[in-house]
Amino acid sequence: MAPPHRGIVLTAAEVQVEGLNAVLDRIAATGATAIGPTLGVFAPAAPGKGRREPPLDVAGAARLLDRPLWGQRELALQGYAPRPVDPALWANVPYPPPPLAPPELRVDVVQQIIDGGHARGLSVHLQLSPYTLPGAPGGQSAESGHAQGPAGDRPLRINGGVAERVVAGHGCLNNPRVRALGLARLRQAAQDYPTIDGLSLDWAEYTCYFLEDAFTCVCEHCRRAALAHGYDWERIERDTRALWERLHRLTPADVAALAAPEGWPVALAGGLLARPGVADLLRFKAATVAGVVAELRAALDAAGGEAVALEVHAFPPPWNLLTGADYGRLGRIAQVLRTKLFTFHWPMIVHWWSESLLAWNPGLSEVAVLRAVLAGLDLPLPPGEHRTGLADWGMPRPDEPHPVTATGLTRKLNQAVAQADGAPVLAYLHSYRPAAELAEVLTAAAASGAGGVWVQRYGYLSDEKLAVLRDAWAAGVGG
Ligand SMILES: [Zn+2]
Repeated sequence: MAPPHRGIVLTAAEVQVEGLNAVLDRIAATGATAIGPTLGVFAPAAPGKGRREPPLDVAGAARLLDRPLWGQRELALQGYAPRPVDPALWANVPYPPPPLAPPELRVDVVQQIIDGGHARGLSVHLQLSPYTLPGAPGGQSAESGHAQGPAGDRPLRINGGVAERVVAGHGCLNNPRVRALGLARLRQAAQDYPTIDGLSLDWAEYTCYFLEDAFTCVCEHCRRAALAHGYDWERIERDTRALWERLHRLTPADVAALAAPEGWPVALAGGLLARPGVADLLRFKAATVAGVVAELRAALDAAGGEAVALEVHAFPPPWNLLTGADYGRLGRIAQVLRTKLFTFHWPMIVHWWSESLLAWNPGLSEVAVLRAVLAGLDLPLPPGEHRTGLADWGMPRPDEPHPVTATGLTRKLNQAVAQADGAPVLAYLHSYRPAAELAEVLTAAAASGAGGVWVQRYGYLSDEKLAVLRDAWAAGVGG
Protein backbone atom coordinates (compact mmCIF):
# COMPACT_ATOMS: atom_id res chain seq x y z
CA MET A 1 0.00 0.00 0.00
CA ALA A 2 1.34 3.45 -0.85
CA PRO A 3 2.00 5.62 2.20
CA PRO A 4 -0.75 8.08 3.10
CA HIS A 5 -0.09 11.62 2.05
CA ARG A 6 -2.70 13.56 4.01
CA GLY A 7 -3.39 12.36 7.52
CA ILE A 8 -5.16 13.86 10.53
CA VAL A 9 -4.61 12.64 14.08
CA LEU A 10 -7.60 12.47 16.40
CA THR A 11 -8.50 11.18 19.84
CA ALA A 12 -11.43 9.22 21.14
CA ALA A 13 -12.38 12.21 23.32
CA GLU A 14 -13.20 14.27 20.24
CA VAL A 15 -15.43 11.51 18.90
CA GLN A 16 -17.09 10.99 22.28
CA VAL A 17 -18.06 14.67 22.34
CA GLU A 18 -18.84 15.47 18.69
CA GLY A 19 -19.98 12.04 17.50
CA LEU A 20 -18.25 9.56 15.22
CA ASN A 21 -19.92 10.47 11.96
CA ALA A 22 -19.62 14.21 12.51
CA VAL A 23 -15.88 13.99 13.17
CA LEU A 24 -15.04 11.56 10.39
CA ASP A 25 -17.21 13.38 7.86
CA ARG A 26 -15.49 16.67 8.68
CA ILE A 27 -12.08 15.02 8.31
CA ALA A 28 -13.00 13.27 5.05
CA ALA A 29 -14.34 16.57 3.67
CA THR A 30 -10.83 18.08 3.91
CA GLY A 31 -9.56 15.56 1.36
CA ALA A 32 -7.58 13.65 3.99
CA THR A 33 -6.58 10.16 2.96
CA ALA A 34 -5.70 8.87 6.42
CA ILE A 35 -6.54 9.20 10.09
CA GLY A 36 -4.42 8.54 13.14
CA PRO A 37 -6.38 7.71 16.29
CA THR A 38 -4.61 7.62 19.66
CA LEU A 39 -5.55 4.98 22.25
CA GLY A 40 -8.05 5.08 25.10
CA VAL A 41 -11.41 6.50 26.09
CA PHE A 42 -11.81 9.61 28.20
CA ALA A 43 -14.01 11.39 30.70
CA PRO A 44 -13.75 14.72 32.48
CA ALA A 45 -11.72 14.13 35.63
CA ALA A 46 -12.82 14.75 39.18
CA PRO A 47 -11.24 17.86 40.77
CA GLY A 48 -7.52 17.32 41.35
CA LYS A 49 -7.41 14.18 39.20
CA GLY A 50 -6.43 13.37 35.63
CA ARG A 51 -4.28 15.51 33.39
CA ARG A 52 -4.74 18.83 31.69
CA GLU A 53 -5.99 18.81 28.15
CA PRO A 54 -4.31 20.32 26.18
CA PRO A 55 -1.20 18.85 27.78
CA LEU A 56 0.47 21.45 29.99
CA ASP A 57 4.01 20.79 28.66
CA VAL A 58 5.50 22.30 31.82
CA ALA A 59 4.59 25.94 31.11
CA GLY A 60 2.05 25.82 28.31
CA ALA A 61 -1.07 27.07 30.05
CA ALA A 62 -1.68 29.51 27.19
CA ARG A 63 -2.55 26.62 24.86
CA LEU A 64 -6.26 25.99 24.42
CA LEU A 65 -8.25 23.62 22.26
CA ASP A 66 -9.98 24.97 19.18
CA ARG A 67 -12.74 22.38 19.48
CA PRO A 68 -14.14 22.27 23.03
CA LEU A 69 -14.37 18.98 24.88
CA TRP A 70 -17.38 18.70 27.16
CA GLY A 71 -17.89 22.42 26.56
CA GLN A 72 -14.40 23.52 27.59
CA ARG A 73 -11.26 24.61 25.76
CA GLU A 74 -9.13 23.41 28.67
CA LEU A 75 -10.06 20.76 31.18
CA ALA A 76 -8.81 17.83 33.21
CA LEU A 77 -9.28 14.46 31.53
CA GLN A 78 -9.07 10.94 32.86
CA GLY A 79 -8.05 8.25 30.38
CA TYR A 80 -8.97 4.58 30.42
CA ALA A 81 -8.67 1.40 28.40
CA PRO A 82 -12.10 0.53 26.99
CA ARG A 83 -11.52 -3.19 27.44
CA PRO A 84 -9.38 -5.37 29.71
CA VAL A 85 -5.80 -6.01 28.65
CA ASP A 86 -4.57 -9.50 27.86
CA PRO A 87 -2.87 -10.53 31.13
CA ALA A 88 -0.43 -12.76 29.21
CA LEU A 89 0.98 -9.73 27.41
CA TRP A 90 1.53 -7.85 30.68
CA ALA A 91 2.76 -10.76 32.82
CA ASN A 92 6.41 -9.64 32.90
CA VAL A 93 5.86 -5.90 32.73
CA PRO A 94 6.91 -4.03 35.89
CA TYR A 95 4.27 -1.35 35.33
CA PRO A 96 0.49 -1.54 35.61
CA PRO A 97 -1.51 -1.73 32.36
CA PRO A 98 -3.81 1.17 31.50
CA PRO A 99 -6.73 1.40 33.92
CA LEU A 100 -9.94 -0.29 32.77
CA ALA A 101 -12.80 2.11 32.11
CA PRO A 102 -15.83 2.11 34.37
CA PRO A 103 -18.66 0.01 32.86
CA GLU A 104 -20.45 2.92 31.19
CA LEU A 105 -17.24 3.88 29.32
CA ARG A 106 -16.38 0.42 28.06
CA VAL A 107 -17.12 1.38 24.48
CA ASP A 108 -14.20 0.81 22.13
CA VAL A 109 -14.30 4.19 20.42
CA VAL A 110 -10.95 3.51 18.73
CA GLN A 111 -12.43 0.45 17.01
CA GLN A 112 -15.36 2.58 15.89
CA ILE A 113 -12.93 5.15 14.48
CA ILE A 114 -11.00 2.42 12.64
CA ASP A 115 -14.17 0.96 11.14
CA GLY A 116 -15.62 4.38 10.34
CA GLY A 117 -12.39 5.47 8.69
CA HIS A 118 -12.21 2.35 6.55
CA ALA A 119 -15.86 2.79 5.55
CA ARG A 120 -14.89 6.23 4.20
CA GLY A 121 -11.88 4.90 2.31
CA LEU A 122 -9.37 6.36 4.80
CA SER A 123 -6.36 4.37 5.88
CA VAL A 124 -5.98 4.15 9.63
CA HIS A 125 -2.70 4.58 11.49
CA LEU A 126 -2.88 4.03 15.22
CA GLN A 127 -0.61 6.30 17.24
CA LEU A 128 1.28 4.85 20.19
CA SER A 129 3.69 6.27 22.78
CA PRO A 130 5.44 3.04 23.74
CA TYR A 131 7.90 4.29 26.31
CA THR A 132 6.11 7.08 28.20
CA LEU A 133 6.04 5.96 31.82
CA PRO A 134 2.52 5.53 33.20
CA GLY A 135 1.36 8.74 34.87
CA ALA A 136 4.10 10.83 33.23
CA PRO A 137 3.46 13.53 30.62
CA GLY A 138 3.59 12.78 26.91
CA GLY A 139 1.12 11.76 24.25
CA GLN A 140 -2.64 11.54 24.39
CA SER A 141 -2.63 8.03 25.78
CA ALA A 142 -4.94 6.75 28.48
CA GLU A 143 -2.12 6.75 30.98
CA SER A 144 -0.45 10.15 30.62
CA GLY A 145 -0.45 12.46 33.61
CA HIS A 146 1.61 14.99 35.51
CA ALA A 147 3.72 12.61 37.62
CA GLN A 148 7.27 11.55 36.78
CA GLY A 149 7.38 7.78 37.05
CA PRO A 150 10.19 6.03 38.92
CA ALA A 151 13.31 8.25 38.82
CA GLY A 152 15.47 5.16 38.34
CA ASP A 153 13.83 4.47 34.99
CA ARG A 154 14.22 8.01 33.64
CA PRO A 155 17.17 9.07 31.46
CA LEU A 156 20.13 9.94 33.71
CA ARG A 157 22.16 13.10 33.06
CA ILE A 158 25.94 13.23 33.14
CA ASN A 159 25.79 15.25 36.38
CA GLY A 160 23.84 12.44 38.07
CA GLY A 161 20.50 14.26 37.93
CA VAL A 162 17.11 13.40 36.46
CA ALA A 163 14.79 15.97 34.85
CA GLU A 164 12.35 17.64 37.23
CA ARG A 165 10.47 19.41 34.43
CA VAL A 166 9.15 16.97 31.86
CA VAL A 167 7.39 17.31 28.51
CA ALA A 168 7.93 13.75 27.25
CA GLY A 169 8.13 11.44 30.25
CA HIS A 170 9.68 8.42 28.63
CA GLY A 171 12.01 6.01 30.36
CA CYS A 172 15.54 5.20 29.25
CA LEU A 173 15.33 3.18 26.05
CA ASN A 174 18.04 0.78 27.26
CA ASN A 175 16.19 -0.01 30.49
CA PRO A 176 14.68 -3.52 30.28
CA ARG A 177 11.68 -2.42 32.36
CA VAL A 178 10.93 0.34 29.86
CA ARG A 179 11.49 -1.96 26.89
CA ALA A 180 9.06 -4.50 28.39
CA LEU A 181 6.46 -1.75 28.74
CA GLY A 182 6.85 -0.70 25.10
CA LEU A 183 6.57 -4.26 23.85
CA ALA A 184 3.43 -4.93 25.89
CA ARG A 185 1.75 -1.76 24.64
CA LEU A 186 2.58 -2.53 21.02
CA ARG A 187 1.48 -6.18 21.29
CA GLN A 188 -1.75 -5.15 23.02
CA ALA A 189 -2.50 -2.61 20.31
CA ALA A 190 -1.70 -5.10 17.53
CA GLN A 191 -3.94 -7.70 19.15
CA ASP A 192 -6.82 -5.34 19.86
CA TYR A 193 -6.81 -3.62 16.47
CA PRO A 194 -5.67 -6.11 13.81
CA THR A 195 -7.25 -4.22 10.90
CA ILE A 196 -5.14 -1.06 11.16
CA ASP A 197 -3.02 -0.04 8.18
CA GLY A 198 -0.23 1.55 10.15
CA LEU A 199 1.15 1.98 13.63
CA SER A 200 3.03 5.19 14.38
CA LEU A 201 5.44 5.59 17.27
CA ASP A 202 5.73 8.82 19.21
CA TRP A 203 8.77 9.35 21.43
CA ALA A 204 10.71 6.28 20.39
CA GLU A 205 13.68 8.67 20.64
CA TYR A 206 15.42 10.51 23.47
CA THR A 207 13.99 13.81 24.62
CA CYS A 208 15.54 17.20 23.80
CA TYR A 209 13.26 19.88 25.23
CA PHE A 210 15.87 20.89 27.78
CA LEU A 211 19.56 21.39 27.06
CA GLU A 212 20.29 18.98 29.89
CA ASP A 213 18.49 16.25 27.92
CA ALA A 214 21.39 16.28 25.47
CA PHE A 215 23.54 14.97 28.31
CA THR A 216 21.53 11.76 28.82
CA CYS A 217 21.65 8.86 29.28
CA VAL A 218 24.46 7.50 31.39
CA CYS A 219 22.44 5.03 33.45
CA GLU A 220 23.75 1.59 34.29
CA HIS A 221 21.66 0.00 31.51
CA CYS A 222 23.17 2.33 28.94
CA ARG A 223 26.68 1.72 30.24
CA ARG A 224 26.22 -2.03 29.97
CA ALA A 225 24.67 -1.84 26.49
CA ALA A 226 27.39 0.49 25.23
CA LEU A 227 30.18 -1.71 26.55
CA ALA A 228 28.55 -4.76 24.96
CA HIS A 229 28.65 -2.94 21.61
CA GLY A 230 32.32 -2.01 21.96
CA TYR A 231 31.98 1.65 22.95
CA ASP A 232 34.63 3.23 25.15
CA TRP A 233 32.29 4.15 27.98
CA GLU A 234 34.98 5.81 30.04
CA ARG A 235 35.70 8.18 27.16
CA ILE A 236 31.97 8.83 26.63
CA GLU A 237 31.52 9.84 30.26
CA ARG A 238 34.75 11.83 30.46
CA ASP A 239 34.16 13.83 27.28
CA THR A 240 30.46 14.38 27.93
CA ARG A 241 31.27 15.68 31.39
CA ALA A 242 33.97 17.91 29.89
CA LEU A 243 31.43 19.42 27.48
CA TRP A 244 28.94 19.92 30.32
CA GLU A 245 31.62 21.74 32.31
CA ARG A 246 32.75 23.78 29.30
CA LEU A 247 29.17 25.03 28.88
CA HIS A 248 29.35 26.27 32.47
CA ARG A 249 32.38 28.44 31.57
CA LEU A 250 31.14 30.38 28.55
CA THR A 251 32.54 33.82 27.86
CA PRO A 252 30.76 36.64 26.03
CA ALA A 253 33.17 35.99 23.14
CA ASP A 254 32.11 32.30 22.99
CA VAL A 255 28.46 33.27 22.82
CA ALA A 256 29.04 36.01 20.27
CA ALA A 257 30.84 33.51 18.01
CA LEU A 258 27.87 31.13 18.23
CA ALA A 259 25.28 33.81 17.59
CA ALA A 260 26.29 33.84 13.93
CA PRO A 261 25.24 30.73 11.98
CA GLU A 262 28.72 30.57 10.43
CA GLY A 263 30.21 30.22 13.89
CA TRP A 264 28.59 26.84 14.49
CA PRO A 265 30.44 24.57 12.01
CA VAL A 266 33.81 25.58 13.45
CA ALA A 267 32.60 25.22 17.04
CA LEU A 268 30.97 21.85 16.37
CA ALA A 269 33.87 20.37 14.46
CA GLY A 270 36.41 21.63 16.99
CA GLY A 271 34.31 20.49 19.92
CA LEU A 272 33.74 16.98 18.59
CA LEU A 273 37.42 16.54 17.66
CA ALA A 274 38.43 17.62 21.12
CA ARG A 275 35.81 15.41 22.79
CA PRO A 276 35.16 12.38 20.57
CA GLY A 277 33.33 10.69 23.44
CA VAL A 278 30.45 13.12 22.86
CA ALA A 279 30.15 11.91 19.27
CA ASP A 280 30.26 8.34 20.60
CA LEU A 281 27.37 9.10 22.95
CA LEU A 282 25.31 10.47 20.06
CA ARG A 283 26.18 7.45 17.90
CA PHE A 284 25.24 5.16 20.76
CA LYS A 285 21.88 6.93 21.22
CA ALA A 286 21.20 6.51 17.50
CA ALA A 287 22.06 2.80 17.75
CA THR A 288 19.75 2.50 20.75
CA VAL A 289 16.83 4.13 18.95
CA ALA A 290 17.37 1.97 15.86
CA GLY A 291 17.47 -1.06 18.16
CA VAL A 292 14.17 -0.30 19.87
CA VAL A 293 12.42 0.39 16.57
CA ALA A 294 13.74 -2.88 15.16
CA GLU A 295 12.52 -4.67 18.28
CA LEU A 296 9.04 -3.17 17.90
CA ARG A 297 8.96 -3.97 14.16
CA ALA A 298 9.81 -7.61 14.98
CA ALA A 299 7.13 -7.71 17.69
CA LEU A 300 4.57 -6.30 15.28
CA ASP A 301 5.46 -8.97 12.71
CA ALA A 302 5.24 -11.68 15.36
CA ALA A 303 1.79 -10.40 16.40
CA GLY A 304 0.50 -10.91 12.87
CA GLY A 305 1.09 -7.33 11.80
CA GLU A 306 3.51 -7.98 8.93
CA ALA A 307 1.34 -5.90 6.61
CA VAL A 308 1.00 -3.02 9.09
CA ALA A 309 3.29 -0.10 8.23
CA LEU A 310 5.49 1.01 11.11
CA GLU A 311 5.94 4.77 11.20
CA VAL A 312 8.33 6.68 13.41
CA HIS A 313 7.91 10.29 14.53
CA ALA A 314 11.21 12.11 14.86
CA PHE A 315 12.45 15.53 15.78
CA PRO A 316 13.79 17.53 12.83
CA PRO A 317 17.46 18.30 12.27
CA PRO A 318 19.50 19.33 14.14
CA TRP A 319 17.64 18.13 17.25
CA ASN A 320 17.54 14.57 15.93
CA LEU A 321 21.32 14.35 16.42
CA LEU A 322 20.62 14.63 20.14
CA THR A 323 17.52 12.43 20.25
CA GLY A 324 19.10 9.51 18.41
CA ALA A 325 16.60 9.67 15.54
CA ASP A 326 18.94 8.80 12.68
CA TYR A 327 16.65 9.09 9.67
CA GLY A 328 18.91 6.96 7.47
CA ARG A 329 19.05 4.11 9.92
CA LEU A 330 15.38 4.29 10.89
CA GLY A 331 14.36 4.41 7.24
CA ARG A 332 15.78 0.93 6.77
CA ILE A 333 13.63 -0.46 9.61
CA ALA A 334 10.39 1.54 9.55
CA GLN A 335 8.25 2.15 6.49
CA VAL A 336 7.61 5.86 6.98
CA LEU A 337 9.32 8.64 8.96
CA ARG A 338 7.43 11.69 10.12
CA THR A 339 9.39 14.86 10.84
CA LYS A 340 7.73 16.66 13.73
CA LEU A 341 7.23 20.35 13.12
CA PHE A 342 5.49 21.04 16.45
CA THR A 343 6.55 24.64 16.27
CA PHE A 344 4.62 25.84 19.32
CA HIS A 345 7.22 23.94 21.36
CA TRP A 346 10.16 25.64 19.70
CA PRO A 347 9.99 28.99 21.53
CA MET A 348 9.67 27.02 24.77
CA ILE A 349 12.78 25.03 23.85
CA VAL A 350 14.65 28.23 23.04
CA HIS A 351 13.57 29.57 26.43
CA TRP A 352 14.62 26.47 28.37
CA TRP A 353 17.97 26.03 26.64
CA SER A 354 18.80 29.71 27.08
CA GLU A 355 17.59 29.69 30.66
CA SER A 356 20.00 26.87 31.52
CA LEU A 357 22.96 28.56 29.84
CA LEU A 358 22.19 31.79 31.68
CA ALA A 359 21.89 29.97 35.00
CA TRP A 360 25.21 28.24 34.36
CA ASN A 361 26.88 31.50 33.26
CA PRO A 362 25.26 34.31 35.26
CA GLY A 363 27.27 37.11 33.65
CA LEU A 364 26.14 36.49 30.07
CA SER A 365 23.76 38.70 28.12
CA GLU A 366 20.26 37.27 27.74
CA VAL A 367 19.91 38.54 24.20
CA ALA A 368 23.30 37.16 23.16
CA VAL A 369 22.49 33.72 24.55
CA LEU A 370 19.10 33.68 22.83
CA ARG A 371 20.79 34.53 19.53
CA ALA A 372 23.33 31.74 19.97
CA VAL A 373 20.62 29.17 20.74
CA LEU A 374 18.50 30.28 17.76
CA ALA A 375 21.52 29.97 15.48
CA GLY A 376 22.46 26.58 16.89
CA LEU A 377 18.97 25.21 16.33
CA ASP A 378 18.79 26.84 12.89
CA LEU A 379 15.69 28.85 13.75
CA PRO A 380 15.75 31.99 11.59
CA LEU A 381 13.33 34.63 12.82
CA PRO A 382 10.56 36.05 10.66
CA PRO A 383 10.62 39.76 9.83
CA GLY A 384 9.08 41.88 12.57
CA GLU A 385 9.47 39.18 15.20
CA HIS A 386 8.48 40.75 18.51
CA ARG A 387 10.26 38.48 20.97
CA THR A 388 13.37 39.92 22.61
CA GLY A 389 14.10 38.80 26.17
CA LEU A 390 13.80 35.35 27.71
CA ALA A 391 10.36 36.11 29.14
CA ASP A 392 8.96 36.55 25.62
CA TRP A 393 9.88 33.00 24.61
CA GLY A 394 7.20 30.59 25.68
CA MET A 395 4.00 28.84 24.59
CA PRO A 396 2.31 30.97 21.91
CA ARG A 397 -1.27 32.05 22.51
CA PRO A 398 -3.85 30.42 20.20
CA ASP A 399 -3.90 33.49 17.93
CA GLU A 400 -0.16 34.21 18.06
CA PRO A 401 2.09 33.35 15.09
CA HIS A 402 5.05 31.10 15.85
CA PRO A 403 8.61 32.44 15.50
CA VAL A 404 9.48 30.38 12.43
CA THR A 405 9.93 31.02 8.72
CA ALA A 406 8.65 29.00 5.78
CA THR A 407 12.16 28.66 4.37
CA GLY A 408 13.40 27.46 7.75
CA LEU A 409 10.72 24.76 7.87
CA THR A 410 11.35 23.67 4.30
CA ARG A 411 15.07 23.46 5.04
CA LYS A 412 14.52 21.24 8.09
CA LEU A 413 12.28 18.92 6.07
CA ASN A 414 14.81 18.75 3.25
CA GLN A 415 17.58 17.94 5.71
CA ALA A 416 15.46 15.09 7.06
CA VAL A 417 14.72 13.86 3.53
CA ALA A 418 18.43 13.94 2.67
CA GLN A 419 19.33 12.04 5.83
CA ALA A 420 16.61 9.45 5.17
CA ASP A 421 18.46 8.30 2.09
CA GLY A 422 15.38 7.47 0.02
CA ALA A 423 13.05 6.33 2.81
CA PRO A 424 9.66 8.11 2.79
CA VAL A 425 9.58 11.23 4.97
CA LEU A 426 6.32 13.02 5.73
CA ALA A 427 5.90 16.44 7.36
CA TYR A 428 4.17 16.08 10.72
CA LEU A 429 2.60 19.49 11.29
CA HIS A 430 0.78 20.75 14.34
CA SER A 431 -2.50 22.56 13.93
CA TYR A 432 -2.13 24.58 17.15
CA ARG A 433 -1.48 27.90 15.41
CA PRO A 434 -3.41 30.71 13.72
CA ALA A 435 -5.37 29.58 10.64
CA ALA A 436 -3.46 31.83 8.24
CA GLU A 437 -0.19 30.39 9.46
CA LEU A 438 -1.45 26.83 8.90
CA ALA A 439 -1.77 27.65 5.21
CA GLU A 440 1.82 28.97 5.16
CA VAL A 441 3.16 25.87 6.87
CA LEU A 442 1.36 23.61 4.38
CA THR A 443 3.00 25.59 1.59
CA ALA A 444 6.40 25.25 3.29
CA ALA A 445 5.91 21.48 3.48
CA ALA A 446 4.84 21.33 -0.15
CA ALA A 447 8.01 23.15 -1.14
CA SER A 448 10.13 20.45 0.48
CA GLY A 449 10.97 16.92 -0.61
CA ALA A 450 8.64 15.45 2.03
CA GLY A 451 6.12 13.09 0.47
CA GLY A 452 3.04 14.38 2.26
CA VAL A 453 1.59 15.66 5.48
CA TRP A 454 0.20 14.48 8.78
CA VAL A 455 -1.61 17.00 10.97
CA GLN A 456 -1.66 16.71 14.76
CA ARG A 457 -4.60 17.07 15.53
CA TYR A 458 -8.35 17.40 15.03
CA GLY A 459 -8.93 19.13 18.40
CA TYR A 460 -6.93 22.18 17.27
CA LEU A 461 -8.64 22.35 13.87
CA SER A 462 -11.36 24.97 14.04
CA ASP A 463 -13.85 24.95 11.17
CA GLU A 464 -11.74 27.75 9.66
CA LYS A 465 -8.61 25.61 9.80
CA LEU A 466 -10.44 22.59 8.39
CA ALA A 467 -11.32 24.84 5.45
CA VAL A 468 -7.66 25.85 5.13
CA LEU A 469 -6.71 22.19 4.89
CA ARG A 470 -9.48 21.47 2.38
CA ASP A 471 -8.48 24.36 0.16
CA ALA A 472 -4.78 23.55 0.32
CA TRP A 473 -5.29 19.87 -0.41
CA ALA A 474 -7.77 20.60 -3.18
CA ALA A 475 -5.09 22.78 -4.76
CA GLY A 476 -2.50 20.01 -4.35
CA VAL A 477 -0.56 21.89 -1.68
CA GLY A 478 1.04 20.06 1.22
CA GLY A 479 0.65 16.49 0.10
ZN1 LIG B 1 20.02 4.87 30.14
